[in-house]
Amino acid sequence: MSHHQIIIVGGGTAGITVAARLRNVDPSLDIAIIEPSEKHYYQPLWTLVGGGMFKPEESGRDEVDLIPYGVNWVKDFVASFQPNANSVTTRGGETITYDYLIVAPGIQLNWDQVKGLKKAVGKDGVCSNYSIETVASTWEFVRNMKKGVALFTQPAGAVKCGGAPQKICYLAEDHFRRSGVRDDIEVIFTTAGARLFAVDQYREVLEKVAKRKGVEPRFRHNLVEIRSSSKEAVYRHMDTDEENVIKYDMIHVTPPMSAPDFVSGSELAGEGGWVDVDKHTLQHTRFANVFGIGDASSLPTSKTGAAVRKQAPVLVSNLLSLMKQEPLSASYDGYTSCPVVTGYDSLVLAEFDYSGGPAETFPFNQAKERFSMLLLKKFGLPALYWHGMLRGRA
Ligand code: FAD
Repeated sequence: MSHHQIIIVGGGTAGITVAARLRNVDPSLDIAIIEPSEKHYYQPLWTLVGGGMFKPEESGRDEVDLIPYGVNWVKDFVASFQPNANSVTTRGGETITYDYLIVAPGIQLNWDQVKGLKKAVGKDGVCSNYSIETVASTWEFVRNMKKGVALFTQPAGAVKCGGAPQKICYLAEDHFRRSGVRDDIEVIFTTAGARLFAVDQYREVLEKVAKRKGVEPRFRHNLVEIRSSSKEAVYRHMDTDEENVIKYDMIHVTPPMSAPDFVSGSELAGEGGWVDVDKHTLQHTRFANVFGIGDASSLPTSKTGAAVRKQAPVLVSNLLSLMKQEPLSASYDGYTSCPVVTGYDSLVLAEFDYSGGPAETFPFNQAKERFSMLLLKKFGLPALYWHGMLRGRA
């Protein structure tokens, strides 16, 4: 059995950012990251990969190059938590004890919850930006689409980056238009939700975008089955439970998501299975030496990397206070951001917090579609991610 002062579960956006920040403050800390993957992906780029603006491989880096100097890497999955014994057990059967635990394993993609999807995705017009294995198929099917019905889906429940299912719809529509086939394609955006966006200021703009582009939104539509042999998407209406079948020529699917099973089945889980943390301090509600951050956490905000960027300094400050037996004074305000790409030269940079109102960075109206904000997403934010955020500097 080994021991580390701080264990971080998950070396994704949140895990690496927190580790880097901790090491920058105190290089003597004994930290281990438990992370099974050799590759780390900047997932926000997958929207642009699906739109043909980047190659899939441009979104990834080797995990080994991102683990901060001096931090131990345990290359395994965590299988279970024993918070009363201050330990975790890996799939490889190793039990590791800790003084402090940070839980950041992200969100789980549940491909199996849509009948026929797992087998179909990546083939015969069924694609998804939501994994590195399937993102290349999005551009392939968008590029080859000449006529028929192009469907885009958003499932019920929390997904990472709630705007992403819409972004690829608008990009594809723009591509159809630019390549002269738009008039022969019906573009339909189906969502299990009741509106296009949670925050009114941005919702109103996106409704106009959809209207201008001739994208037909169908609300309360929850995808339950893909019949790939007949190219049919089967929906259940969220209110009436009625079945509705739409024939497609291409379909971009955002799979249903949930808290990872090994979290929801543990003592760390709260409502919905997420890591149960205080929404301001990020400290676990029952185990004081445990913190949660990012997509796997119960924080009641939209799950994005931008949110993690604001959560990380709060978590680090509060953890260091706890170690010094001082009050936890740093507070997270729910900030999150969603750069909604509306075409190859336009983007609405939505930023908001727990108040439900905008929390914007720039001194201009961000609800307006702008080319400058598209450039920010394409070049500025990836650079900020790799060189600032993951180094604990931004
Ligand atoms: P992740 O970065 O997903 O990291 C979780 C890590 O935990 C992974 O490395 C995983 O391998 C590891 N892990 C999983 N299970 C275990 C286990 N059992 N044991 C140990 N480790 C485990 N965000 C934005 O801010 N802006 C955007 O424009 C945006 N667009 C997006 C578009 C798409 C298509 C997608 C897919 C995501 C987008 N996001 C965007 C969301 C953003 O990528 C996530 O919110 C962010 O990565 C969450 O960070 P995280 O550390 O919680 O999870």
